[in-house]
Order: sequence, then C-alpha cells, then structure tokens
Amino acid sequence: MRPFDYVRAEDPVSASRAAAQANARFIGGGTNLLDLMKLEVMAPETLVDVSRLDFGGIAEDGDGLRIGATVTNSDVAADARVRRTWPVLSRALLSGASGQLRNKATTGGNLLQRTRCPYFYDTDTACNKRRPGSGCAAMGGETRNHAILGTSDQCIALYPGDMAVALRALDATIDVQRSEGAAERFSMQDFYRLPGETPDIETVLAPGDLITAVHLPAPKGDRQIYRKVRDRASYAFALVSVAAVVRMEGGRIAHAAIGFGGLGTVPWRDPDVDAVLVGEKPSAAVFDAAADTLLRGAVPEEGTQFKVPLARRVLRAVLEEATA
Ligand code: SF4
Repeated sequence: MRPFDYVRAEDPVSASRAAAQANARFIGGGTNLLDLMKLEVMAPETLVDVSRLDFGGIAEDGDGLRIGATVTNSDVAADARVRRTWPVLSRALLSGASGQLRNKATTGGNLLQRTRCPYFYDTDTACNKRRPGSGCAAMGGETRNHAILGTSDQCIALYPGDMAVALRALDATIDVQRSEGAAERFSMQDFYRLPGETPDIETVLAPGDLITAVHLPAPKGDRQIYRKVRDRASYAFALVSVAAVVRMEGGRIAHAAIGFGGLGTVPWRDPDVDAVLVGEKPSAAVFDAAADTLLRGAVPEEGTQFKVPLARRVLRAVLEEATA
C-alpha cells in the first residue's frame, strides 16, 4: 500500500472540500476501498474519514424513512421499522457479505462499492475501468461473474451489490451534498451510469460530492421478496438476484417493481418488465413475458450464458411466490 494522508472530517462541508482536492477519497467503513488500496488498484493521496460524521441515523421522514449515510448495514438490516415495512431491504442486506463486514460497511459506501471483476483487481492485466483505454481482459477471459445487461464494448463488469438492488425496487432516492455546497437528490436510476465509452465513471458524483442519506418512500407493495442465487450459501456475490415489491388487488397485480442483481452493470430495473406485469392476473405466460422483456437486450459471454435461463427461472419463482 502506498503512503497517504489521513484527514478526519469535522463536518460535511469541510469533508466535501477536503475530498474535492486532487486524488482524495472519502472513507467510511473502508470494506472495499482498503482492499483496493492494498492491491494498488486505487492509490489516493488523501483519505477523508467521514465515518464519525452524524448524518442523523435512521429517522422517520413523513411516511418514509431517512437513513443517514454512515449508518452501518447491520443497523439498517436490524431496524424494526425497516424489517416491518421495507423487509426486502433488510433481507437484501443480510444476504450480502458477512456479519463482520456488515458491522463496518456503511449505507453510503455500500452504494459505491466497486465491481469484483478479477481483472480490475489485477494490475498486470488490461482494464478500461482501472486504466481507461487499456482494453478489457475479461472479454474472452473468465466471465462467470460478469454482467449480461447494460454492457458495452469497453466493459462488461457486474455491479456486485445487494442493497442497491432492493433500493431500486423500493424507489429509493439518494441525497448528495455537492462539493460546491448545494444539496441534490437523485433517483437510483439517475445515480448510476452505464459503462458506455467511460467505464471508469460509475456514478454522477464528482470529486468531493458526499452522499448524506438514502430516503425510502412508503412502499407501494406489501409483498416483498429478495431472492439471491449464488455459488455457496453465504459470503458470495449473486449469480442472479431478484428484489420484488408487489401489491395485489382483486386477483390482479396492482403494483410491481422488480430489481435485479447479478445481471447488470448497474443495479438493474427495467420499467418495461414492471409494465408487463401490472394489471395482469398472475400466470406462467405473464411471468414468461416479463422474463422475455427483461432479457431481450442480454449480451452474454460464453461464461455468462447460464444466466439467461437462470434469470428466467428465478424471476418466475419470485413472481409465483409474490402473487400467490
Ligand atoms: Fe476492466 Fe470492465 Fe473489462 Fe473487468 S470487464 S477487465 S472491469 S474493463
């Protein structure tokens, strides 16, 4: 690991200013960043520690919930209000990482975790995300844990997280304090960027922009499921995951919001999938139509072809349970 300066932030504004300097980074729990620094994938010259800033914990906000950026994943998952009203979020969090990591990892940091593409972590290989313009060693290489949706000819790296997949299904928003002082709120869709020609740019955040909170609106569906398929029962990233928020009325699907993990370069949600479901009576034909819609733009590599039928089966199983 290369030497770096350490700054403990006193307040959000000074933290933002300090992190806006060249080659500075925020650190919260550090559960991903420190690994990247040890491998010299990232080499910030200054770390601005925001872990002790008070962003208000978890507080009721109208009929929703505001979760401060430094609240740990464990505390969110265990919160009685989250478990009762937004259980898909609690289940997604508990399916990720390990107990020790969840005790350190923060809400803001979880949103910004980086891909686990093995070539990204290997500084001896070509990687457009790590070194723009150097190529992509994953294409034609080992791709079992790569994306099939939202890819580009520059990068096929998978978004690896669970929490953000549930947040997409819950229509959560992200509060950001811009480095120049303005506060801004982003939808999950607007927050993340597809790789396109610039896979090194993953979100709308500019240097010094600080995530302050995540806002959960009142859920539009009382039937909430998070199902994660992976290579082993714990401490593994999703091969395919589905977060479903569904409401039934009179035997028909009145609301459907489906998030997907293990498939996309960003936490995935396709409004056309939701639209296929809403207003319909549950049936195998409707669920298949939703899967067809989801997978119509899939571009699997040799190593990810299995994800196409797997995503179809997991989606159907989740929808059967959510609409039963
Ligand atoms: Fe790098 Fe993306 Fe290619 Fe992985 S898939 S090697 S992260 S450019």
